[in-house]
Amino acid sequence: MKLRLQLPVPTSLNQLYIQKYEWNAKLKMKIPSNVKILSKEGEQCKKVIQQKAIYQMALQKENWDYEWTKTGYIYMDIICYFSRRGTDCDNTLKILCDSLQGIIYDNDSRVLPRFQRVLYDTDCPRLEVLLHEVNYVGSLGTKEQAEAFEDVCRGCQRYTKNCSILKSAKSGQVQTQIHNNVCSEFKEKITTKIKKKG
Ligand code: SF4
Repeated sequence: MKLRLQLPVPTSLNQLYIQKYEWNAKLKMKIPSNVKILSKEGEQCKKVIQQKAIYQMALQKENWDYEWTKTGYIYMDIICYFSRRGTDCDNTLKILCDSLQGIIYDNDSRVLPRFQRVLYDTDCPRLEVLLHEVNYVGSLGTKEQAEAFEDVCRGCQRYTKNCSILKSAKSGQVQTQIHNNVCSEFKEKITTKIKKKG
């Protein structure tokens, strides 16, 4: 599962987000709240990123599974091509993650952004983004380590009862019952042999 996107560099964070004001009945005036909202420029920037993402995803749809992102975590590897030096790559992140939510992935809380490089291209500033699934399974380590752990679980009494410890570990929960990928709650399954008649 892999998706490559080429997206515009968002303008400065200060221009994208503005302070939200709320009416204060006591003071009879609007006062700044703690919430920041998208400015008109921010809305426009988000719209452009979304349009480009929708188009590019349609061209690669067989490589991507939106449903999978509803439970799975993904890496977002970013190479920045800025038009000028001094641009802070962190400033691109919030609008980028917000814009792709609901289009490329279900929720940006399961996206792990990683800046790979910052380069400069005055003719064609852009963000090159590679999205792909993470190479670990919850708190169980690599896919191979998780498979080995689950292989042991198959011999445990709780496995067929939809074990909550296993389920939580797969979703990233660190638990005292699992240490160095060994579960202290393991109870061997009792297998009854059926005797053949006659
Ligand atoms: S109790 Fe432990 S060993 Fe048994 S299924 Fe659950 S996680 Fe696996």
